[in-house]
Amino acid sequence: MHTVTLIKGDGIGPDITEATLKVIEATGVKITWDEVTAGEGALEEYGTPLPEKVIESLNKNKVGLKGPLTTPIGSGFRSINVALRMELDLYANLRPSKTFPGIKSRYDNIDLVVVRENTEDLYSGVEHMVGTDAAESIKIITRKASERIVRFAFDYARDNGRKKVTAVHKANILKLSDGLFLDIAREVAAKYPQIEFEDRIVDNMAMQLVQKPELYDVMVMPNLYGDILSDLCAGLVGGLGVVPGANIGDNAALFEPVHGSAPKYAGKNYVNPSAMIMAAVLMLRHMEEREAADRIEKALAGQIKEGKDLTADLGGSAGTSEMAAALARRIKQAD
Ligand code: NAD
Repeated sequence: MHTVTLIKGDGIGPDITEATLKVIEATGVKITWDEVTAGEGALEEYGTPLPEKVIESLNKNKVGLKGPLTTPIGSGFRSINVALRMELDLYANLRPSKTFPGIKSRYDNIDLVVVRENTEDLYSGVEHMVGTDAAESIKIITRKASERIVRFAFDYARDNGRKKVTAVHKANILKLSDGLFLDIAREVAAKYPQIEFEDRIVDNMAMQLVQKPELYDVMVMPNLYGDILSDLCAGLVGGLGVVPGANIGDNAALFEPVHGSAPKYAGKNYVNPSAMIMAAVLMLRHMEEREAADRIEKALAGQIKEGKDLTADLGGSAGTSEMAAALARRIKQAD
């Protein structure tokens, strides 16, 4: 029996969460959900979008599933998602992008994983004006954060049967900061002789991902490059509707769809639950429930390929809950 923190989220969050819970239930994996509220809902109830209860629950349960959160405007919070990552030191952002046959995209065989450093680089918040006509944002790269993210990428590659890790950087220009990241990546790579290692300069990597994505496998990089290239990879498989993400630290891991809360569709039983369902797949693998994760992924791929019981963005006419119910039936029938 597992206990998992559940944050249904704002906007379409409750719709896609309910759908996802039905699909998980169909696998027979027993989970007790410790539900807490964050985002807009929490602001109304607790006066803050990130109540202490949320952090406490995640610290206690170590694993969380989260719907998208609307960042309340004017609350003084830059982003609840960033705050959560910082509070829980979720230093690794994991973004797999895999082709689902049946989803329209320019490529048909993409299987890429971006591992993005989540805590430093240009996102450390060290910024100031220099007089009135110039501004400085400081890029921070440390040995500690670089070592742990590269190690995370290699461990992920080893544990998931992946063959190669590519470190992405701009060390030709940023000789000290990205130079340090690259040196550390090489040091860590030497400890994993069974996994191939190479490095690429980020601009060249962007071009190669568009021209020859099949050459790449797991990629690890500092925060800003990861932010950009993970969305590029989502674009290669047909956009945000099917792409999950995870934020993982040594003490907790939080799984979520990559897309936002799409407020205009809230409560309309309209949107595609696939990204949240795939977030649950990543979560189940993290919890060593690999068989259940594989069954969900296979059933979802089958449903999308057949083109039946799909939401409007996938070319169908099913609602969110109808798509999930069909998927749950498919999972049970495969037993
Ligand atoms: P969004 O992802 O909510 O919407 C972008 C577009 O994609 C919209 O047209 C939307 O209708 C569509 N879309 C999104 N999810 C879909 C789904 N599952 N099925 C079908 N169509 C879908 O991005 P946005 O409009 O820029 O942001 C809305 C809110 O979400 C903002 O408050 C933003 O801060 C927040 N947000 C949260 C997260 C998160 O919690 N991880 C991530 C991104 C944005």
